[in-house]
Amino acid sequence: MEDWVSIGYLLSAALFIFGLKKLGHPRTAPYGNQLGAMGMLVAVLTTVLSMQLAGGAEWVLIGAGIVIGSSIGYWMAVKVEMTGMPELVALFNGFGGAASALVALSEVWKYLEDSNSVPEGLELTVTMVAAGLSALVGWMTLTGSLLAMYKLKGGVSIFGKWIKTPTWGPAWLNPVKVLLVITVGVLIYMSICEPTNTDYLWGIIGISCLLGIILVLPIGGADMPVVVSLLNSLSGIAAAFTGFIIGNSVLIIAGSLVGASGLILTFIMCKAMNRTLIDVLFKSFGGSGEKESLTRTKVGSDADEVAMMLDGAQKVIIVPGYGMAVSQCQHQVKEFADLMEEKFGTDVKYGIHPVAGRMPGHMNVLLAEANVPYEQLIEMDEINGEFPECDVAVVIGANDTTNPAARSGEGPLAGMPIIDADKARTVVIVKRSLSVGYAGVDNDLFYMDKTMMLFGDGKAMMAGLNTALKEI
Ligand code: NDP
Repeated sequence: MEDWVSIGYLLSAALFIFGLKKLGHPRTAPYGNQLGAMGMLVAVLTTVLSMQLAGGAEWVLIGAGIVIGSSIGYWMAVKVEMTGMPELVALFNGFGGAASALVALSEVWKYLEDSNSVPEGLELTVTMVAAGLSALVGWMTLTGSLLAMYKLKGGVSIFGKWIKTPTWGPAWLNPVKVLLVITVGVLIYMSICEPTNTDYLWGIIGISCLLGIILVLPIGGADMPVVVSLLNSLSGIAAAFTGFIIGNSVLIIAGSLVGASGLILTFIMCKAMNRTLIDVLFKSFGGSGEKESLTRTKVGSDADEVAMMLDGAQKVIIVPGYGMAVSQCQHQVKEFADLMEEKFGTDVKYGIHPVAGRMPGHMNVLLAEANVPYEQLIEMDEINGEFPECDVAVVIGANDTTNPAARSGEGPLAGMPIIDADKARTVVIVKRSLSVGYAGVDNDLFYMDKTMMLFGDGKAMMAGLNTALKEI
């Protein structure tokens, strides 16, 4: 490798690492993102310039790929609603895995066209093992991520008919998963013995696609965040394997960074959900996907009534959830907090559950957009001790993450730590109805005597509450 190529790759690897470091704090995260994007630009330019392309046609092909890919990426990023971000992230994970697997496949494909190019001994073994693992992880990530995307969406529309994404995972599926992984191992071995026979590769691809589906199919409810971050990690691991095959150091580094950070996030999510990764992947504990039918009713309150109750409150904890993202009411929420502080000198904090919303850090991103000071965003473990002293917990579009059913040993939420909003003296819940959250479990918190339901869209309700507060 020429010196300038090594320097280019070193520079981009350094940018990735510094970018990742900056992502560790919300204040520096945007800068970290820019550093990472710059690192990717340096890596792409270095790779393209080092390719010593033969002629104009190859440049046109690469140029067209960059222009079309960038345009689609830009269009998707601009068009996506904040609520669609988790699905877009899942889709990008899948594309990342598939891209790595395709590059690995194209390298091995060369052996078919020219059997003299087949390396011998250790080199062949390393290439075929890396290609097999890249195919296993890459294709599994593609199908698993596509299914995860539709699970986050809740379903898919086919010819105008809405079909719910199923959650299904009988116990016998677990030995099948193990058997399929062993079969892939055997096929990788066979492909080393007979590298010019592509049948083994097709077999690996087919089984890997199937594995992605049966791995994600049983997972639902509260376990989804874990599987999404695991798929993110797998897309990085597939890239690292492919880096070995084509001898590209920056791909190995970038892939390893994504793989390792994704894995750390996966374990953080597991801890937050009080689950082990093995339980998530093999115990199908995250719920059947069926939603509980509601039989109870509760009379709603209005903004004036809630504003009167808030008058003079000394301590208020705001608990945001997915509904805040749907209604995009973070600015109204911030205005509410400011009004409480200014009018009554209330101590206002935000209780952030690690899986509130539909992606890691979802609430932090929204509240940062509304300029809520980071110091007021308190993580679940820390804020829970403050609820017994809290006058009013204002729950905005959160459901599962406040559901006391999680404290029982049964059901899709069993064992998940929750925000202890029910321990506050009074609870105000802003949502459109009594309907269940993502995990499909009815929430006792809504029916407690101390709970006031403010039924309606988050933005309209918070704006109404702010107006009522101003009039006091
Ligand atoms: P939930 O999904 O449990 O509930 C959200 C609530 O928001 C709904 O009950 C809904 O009630 C309400 N809502 C929807 N639209 C509006 C609106 N316009 N205005 C006001 N309210 C609205 O949210 P949580 O944040 O509490 O929990 C997150 C769930 O998502 C957990 O189960 C978690 O495991 C899962 N998950 C999280 C991921 C992550 O990485 N964070 C990824 C994948 C899944 P109504 O219809 O009555 O308005």
